[in-house]
Amino acid sequence: MPSPLSIHLLHNSLRLHDNPPLHAISELPEPSTFISLYIVTSKSPFSQSSEVNKVNKSRANFCLESLEDFDSSLKAIGQRLVCLQSKDYETDSPDPDVEYAETLKAFVGQFPSTTDITIYYERETSAPTLRRWRMVLDEVVILSNVSTKLFETNNLHPLDHYLAKSKGSPPNSYGSFCKIFNSLAPPSPCLPTVTTLPPPPTLTSTKNNYDIPKLSDLENIDQTTGGSGSFAGGETEALKRLELTIVKNFDWAATFEKPKTSPNSLNPSTTLLSPYVKHGCISPRLFYHKLSEAYEKSTKPNSSPPVSLHGQLLWREYNYLHGYATPNFDRMVGNPSARQIQWDDDPALLKAWKDGNTGYPFIDAIMTQLNETGWIHHLARHMVACFLTRGDLYLSWEEGAKVFEERLVDADWSINNFNWQWLSCTAHFYQYFRCYSPIAFGKKTDPNGDYIRKWIPALAKMPKKYIYEPWEAPLVVQQAASCIVGEHYPSRIVENHTTTSKNNMSRIAESYKLHKEAVTAAAASSKKRKS
Ligand code: FAD
Repeated sequence: MPSPLSIHLLHNSLRLHDNPPLHAISELPEPSTFISLYIVTSKSPFSQSSEVNKVNKSRANFCLESLEDFDSSLKAIGQRLVCLQSKDYETDSPDPDVEYAETLKAFVGQFPSTTDITIYYERETSAPTLRRWRMVLDEVVILSNVSTKLFETNNLHPLDHYLAKSKGSPPNSYGSFCKIFNSLAPPSPCLPTVTTLPPPPTLTSTKNNYDIPKLSDLENIDQTTGGSGSFAGGETEALKRLELTIVKNFDWAATFEKPKTSPNSLNPSTTLLSPYVKHGCISPRLFYHKLSEAYEKSTKPNSSPPVSLHGQLLWREYNYLHGYATPNFDRMVGNPSARQIQWDDDPALLKAWKDGNTGYPFIDAIMTQLNETGWIHHLARHMVACFLTRGDLYLSWEEGAKVFEERLVDADWSINNFNWQWLSCTAHFYQYFRCYSPIAFGKKTDPNGDYIRKWIPALAKMPKKYIYEPWEAPLVVQQAASCIVGEHYPSRIVENHTTTSKNNMSRIAESYKLHKEAVTAAAASSKKRKS
């Protein structure tokens, strides 16, 4: 009989520390063999949703570097990462999730049917990853020699534990969620870093060498935005950054207040750990416990949720919970928590926003930073999301969420969709009469416009007085700054923010009214049917 084989089907947790499936495998009795497996689909590599076709170079680079780093760590303890590219297998489905499952099936098929195979999988809670896992169950786990073990790797507590405390549906407010969180025991301690693993079996495929692909090997990557840049991927870098920002800088971490950070400072004002958390290069529990240590060590008054760093991790949990428990969470129609709003549809306006060509320097600088680096500050995300939706362009939040999904290094299905619903006043937040101004908001933290000058070189010489509204500059001033609006920098796509946003507020108010009437009518007809 061949030795039993454990396959860790890696999804997110690209790390040796606090990795429940890997830790369980490291404790298996001999004889056993082990494969750490990652599958790169060719139709939409590194995308979380089958509806978003192409991620950009920033995210692809980050993921490839994270895989390389994980492979180096495995090699240091006598193992390796086995990377499959679905294009090397006979998969002809247009559906990337089927492609994924068929690749795994073909790989598993190389082992004799007498091999007892266990697939160790990270429990997923977002709709697209759950769909992928269902495909794996249908295609692979029906094989008689294959079984599975599921592990929680991605949250501070299993999401069902929160739901059990809230009668099966997510609480409607962050405050209520915090009460639930505080009623549970603190998150479990981190598992020790894995230092030994069972050996690999002999791999007999002639398909490929199982190496991690290079960016140039991958099809279906958007080559027009992003680059390698701000974030080196991987656990090694994640732990270094955690040490620098939280462990060494414990006073800063313990007193952190999100609203006091800046959307447009040239130096980071938040931790910048989100890409590492998203891709599992750092475990949320390690992040949480290192923060607890910083709070204890600091003698300064600690900040608290919602604004503290613990508070940010609780927002993450809260977002995940809604994503997990809400049907059709990534769309308006069929999503019970979404207000139905009749958004406009204008591809030209959407393109101008995406490309950073709106004629509003603060918006364009943010979108340029996003397009070039794959990361922007939280309040910068607020600004551009408000502008695209209820603030100015009145386009659907679903369109904005798709752009973020393609371009953010930290793109996370649950957090991204939650926040887009929030900013568009579709769900969770309804104060549509509070609107961000693309002119005034950035001035508060960067009156000189240095952030704009950095990301939009055409405006580098524009005087401070006009940097947020260059159309107001007299022609001689524009000439002196070598920037004529309409020639070197686009004219505004929204003529007047103040009147447009006011008009949009009336439109939202009308949609809310219609939504309320529809909900009341539906409730009445359901009551009538029952009686
Ligand atoms: P810090 O302030 O240092 O926070 C620490 C960690 O807490 C972050 O790494 C992140 O894991 C978590 N966190 C912080 N803020 C939030 C929040 N508001 N909601 C949930 N978790 C949070 N974050 C993503 O990770 N992926 C996304 O796809 C994403 N899309 C967003 C879309 C919009 C429209 C908006 C307004 C926000 C979005 N966010 C997203 C939330 C937030 O902007 C980022 O998590 C944060 O800016 C990342 O930077 P940081 O690591 O320096 O955050």
